[in-house]
Amino acid sequence: MKQQRTTDWYLTSKGEPRGYIDPQRLDELWFHTGTACNLECPGCLEGSGPGDQRLDFLTREDIAPFLTEALDFGIRQFAFTGGEPLVNPEFVSMLSMALDLRPCLVLTNGTTPLAHRMIELLPLLDKPNPLSFRVSLDDPDPNRHDAARGAGNFAKSLDALGRLHRAGFGISIARRMYQGEDAAAVDGAYAPHFAAAGIPVETRIVRFPDFHPPGASPKLPEISETCMTRYLDAERRAAFMCNFSKMIVKQGGRCSVYACTLVDDCAGYSLGSTLREAMQERVMLGHHRCFACFSCGASCSES
Ligand code: SF4
Repeated sequence: MKQQRTTDWYLTSKGEPRGYIDPQRLDELWFHTGTACNLECPGCLEGSGPGDQRLDFLTREDIAPFLTEALDFGIRQFAFTGGEPLVNPEFVSMLSMALDLRPCLVLTNGTTPLAHRMIELLPLLDKPNPLSFRVSLDDPDPNRHDAARGAGNFAKSLDALGRLHRAGFGISIARRMYQGEDAAAVDGAYAPHFAAAGIPVETRIVRFPDFHPPGASPKLPEISETCMTRYLDAERRAAFMCNFSKMIVKQGGRCSVYACTLVDDCAGYSLGSTLREAMQERVMLGHHRCFACFSCGASCSES
């Protein structure tokens, strides 16, 4: 459902016109499978945990109309995130339906739920479109990963990457980005782990800054209309996820279309109940996470 907007939706606290994106196309459609997760990590960007119900489980029936509608927009890929998608009872069935239409990407913590459902996933290799998994390995130091995600989970996730790769699925990893880090050095520190798991050393690494938990209000610079043209060129603006993707979220029993994967804690970013409706909406960059897109090009997309 589309929300009523007040003046501060359009203006920064200094009264300047806010930066915005007028979406150009729909290349990727994401589905938030629900905030339930088997892990309970402090500072989870989705606030997920066992039995969490901030966002409902999506069902096969929920996603079917969006899959069909997305084809009208020339969609190139579907993607699934959570929570942990593999704790959603209908997840594999939803994925199967999407893979009949387009390539799919799944974000997973790569732990017990994936191991338990691997047998259900293997037949998806015969689908007409490829399936890839992005497994969270927050830090190349297993102890730092496990400090947030639980003892032994680095090893489980690494093992899952090896099994997925050997089975024939696409793989990548997601890691935390640290302020002032030497990005190449941190990426390089994964090489011995990749070798141990038998996965390619050039496995893609997607970096994420600290997004803060849902509902947080960190003090960050606001993005004005002037900032968007003074500091970014057309190519950088085109790379914002809200320019080429949307996410389906279910809350309180109703599905709606959100501007991107990062703003589902703010009802203002619910742009409508259909893709057609949502694609006509200008996206105002007033969420604190928008600053990560602006300042370091943060994106969940692999395109
Ligand atoms: S978080 Fe990024 S992709 Fe999402 S609305 Fe803000 S700028 Fe756009």
